[in-house]
Amino acid sequence: MKAFEFERADSPAAAAAAAARNPGAKFIAGGTNLLDLMKLQIETPTHLVDVNGLALDTIDASDAGGLRIGALVRNTDLAADSRVRKDYPLLSRALLAGASGQLRNRATTAGNLLQRTRCPYFYDTDQPCNKRLPGSGCGAIKGYSRQLAVIGGSADCIATYPGDMAVALRALDAMVETVRPDGQSRSIALDDFYLAPGSTPQRDTVLEAGELITAVLLPPPVGGRQIYRKVRDRASYAFALVSVAAIVQRDGSGRVVVGGVAHKPWQRDAADAELPQGAKAVAARLFEGATPTEDNRFKLVLAERTIAAALAEAQEATS
Ligand SMILES: Cc1cc2nc3c(=O)[nH]c(=O)nc-3n(C[C@H](O)[C@H](O)[C@H](O)COP(=O)(O)OP(=O)(O)OC[C@H]3O[C@@H](n4cnc5c(N)ncnc54)[C@H](O)[C@@H]3O)c2cc1C
Ligand code: SF4
Repeated sequence: MKAFEFERADSPAAAAAAAARNPGAKFIAGGTNLLDLMKLQIETPTHLVDVNGLALDTIDASDAGGLRIGALVRNTDLAADSRVRKDYPLLSRALLAGASGQLRNRATTAGNLLQRTRCPYFYDTDQPCNKRLPGSGCGAIKGYSRQLAVIGGSADCIATYPGDMAVALRALDAMVETVRPDGQSRSIALDDFYLAPGSTPQRDTVLEAGELITAVLLPPPVGGRQIYRKVRDRASYAFALVSVAAIVQRDGSGRVVVGGVAHKPWQRDAADAELPQGAKAVAARLFEGATPTEDNRFKLVLAERTIAAALAEAQEATS
């Protein structure tokens, strides 16, 4: 691990200012992703700003009738919260499908959103990777791409966003609240939060240097039958090959979001409009323009079947 300076912040604005003052700084929360990346020298921050002492660890009712989830709320606590389990069961299910009990006890809401891709070439510093080292090339595109994106990628990167929680948050229309180094705050729709790789795959999100996530905002409960299905190579402690978050209302309308297939949780309004026609029609719209590799073409079939299973489970529960 490379040497770095360490400081504890005592307010969100101070944390953002400290990160902005020190080029190459990173925030550290649970550390379950960042420390792994530092040990492998994939991330080499010169300065760490510890945000664990900030008062961002509560879940509160929001003025709009939803919930305001502090950036430091641990995944275990969020999944177990009675309001989340009752009104946003999709979120609880997605969280519990992720990682392991020990990791969820430590992992925070903001850190989970910002976990980095699990592309094997990103993790192997002997291999080219534009996300890790811009301009070095992409080992995955002509290499081993089974886990990688089938849609939304570019000629420079086909990485996927690997997490579970954000897939549910997208289905629930969550917003990400931040504070910038100048003290200004902003709210970003989850759909706008993750950047397409384009020619700058090193940038995962729209966050600017020093911008700190302070909370995730959930709108008022939408009801409906909420399902999260995750397909992975083993039953626990593994990232999704494909995951599906589905919300289905009594009248058959709803939303489907797919994880494990793109640089962000993947959703299209035109696909949701096909819900009454069934999974095949939804998947056809969702994956219009897909560019799978030979290794990961199976994900298109797997996604359609996982959507079908989620919709069937939703219908069973409402009938
Ligand atoms: C073996 C293993 C299996 C896993 N399996 C899954 C899985 O199945 N599903 C899943 O979803 N996840 C999985 N994970 C990932 C895990 O959920 C993440 O590591 C965790 O959520 C990251 O949260 P953290 O608080 O530890 O983040 P950290 O490691 O502290 O930080 C991660 C990133 O977020 C940034 N950051 C942290 N807080 C803030 C903030 N407030 N504002 C701005 N930036 C911030 C940091 O600078 C860093 O870049 C797994 C991890 C491991 C190690
Ligand atoms: S897909 Fe992206 S993360 Fe993976 S090797 Fe290519 S550039 Fe790197």
